[in-house]
Amino acid sequence: MDYDLKGKTTAQLKQIVENLGAKAYLAKYIFSFIHQQDISDIDLITPLPKELRKKLCDEGFFISQLKIIEKLTDPDGTEKYLFQTHDKQNIESVLLTETGRKTICLSTQIGCRLGCKFCATGYLKFQRNLTAGEIVGQVNTISKDSGCKINNIVFMGMGEPFENYENTITAVKILNNADGKNIGIRKQTISTVGITEGIRKLADEDIHPRLALSLHAADDKLRKQIVPAANKYPLKQILDALKSYQEKTGRRITIEYCMIDKLNDSADCAKKLIQILKGIKAGVNLIEYNPHPGCDFVPSPQHRIKTFKDILMQADIETIIRFRRGRNIKAACGQLGADRINKKV
Ligand code: SF4
Repeated sequence: MDYDLKGKTTAQLKQIVENLGAKAYLAKYIFSFIHQQDISDIDLITPLPKELRKKLCDEGFFISQLKIIEKLTDPDGTEKYLFQTHDKQNIESVLLTETGRKTICLSTQIGCRLGCKFCATGYLKFQRNLTAGEIVGQVNTISKDSGCKINNIVFMGMGEPFENYENTITAVKILNNADGKNIGIRKQTISTVGITEGIRKLADEDIHPRLALSLHAADDKLRKQIVPAANKYPLKQILDALKSYQEKTGRRITIEYCMIDKLNDSADCAKKLIQILKGIKAGVNLIEYNPHPGCDFVPSPQHRIKTFKDILMQADIETIIRFRRGRNIKAACGQLGADRINKKV
């Protein structure tokens, strides 16, 4: 059992409190002290009777706290946080500011098993899944450190969220709770390389954050060169899962497409993308490839990105070009962990 109170929903906290012989309503103090004030000492939750605080500690419950070990600021205002977990592992998160909106790009794993070629994290050794408390902890710590109200969450940092499904969904629920950070469900986006079990499971949840597919190629042969997970999850299987997700939820999908020079950025690739998106309500984000050590991909030149975008727009697919922010501090899309690739940790 995970004894970290930071990773518990209010329903779970009520159960814990009741099991210790106290009134369920006391759970709301635990939740609000952790998620509104970022308290990490059970004894500081003073509305709880002293006896309950002692019982919680005696049973082994605790409140995890990520340690900030480095913070870098890009001239464009993007901030990258390097955190240390209790077992001395490192994770990174990014705070983006756009027209007054504050977005945090969260990590869900330490390292990643999936090895996408365009992504620095994929070159690091996979260590473990983050707990729900550690996922939420990134938001709580950044929010307190920056003094900012966080408006948006994107699960696009280190790790594949659906490889850590339960903890990711628990984190979504905790962040959505009005007694805590109160971040709207439509202001939270989960990005997947296409883990179809995760897409189908999410469709059956009672909450539906936004869903993004990290696609990068519109045919399996090319996609396998960029996203090795394509060997296990062919496009047809992914597209079927997306269609069924959309039938159940009515939600629009975001397609993430990293633009790599002379690999996936031709007019022909754009036309194939239009073909496979038929029957799916989707918008496309074109992301300029952000270089990192160990990968010899070259970013598409601006004129090719623009042509690609125009082709999609002519087919009535809403398309935007994004995510170049934070490049100077290796905080842009696909760069998290780039500073540690040679160390392979
Ligand atoms: Fe893992 Fe996501 Fe990077 Fe792929 S893009 S290697 S799934 S972190």
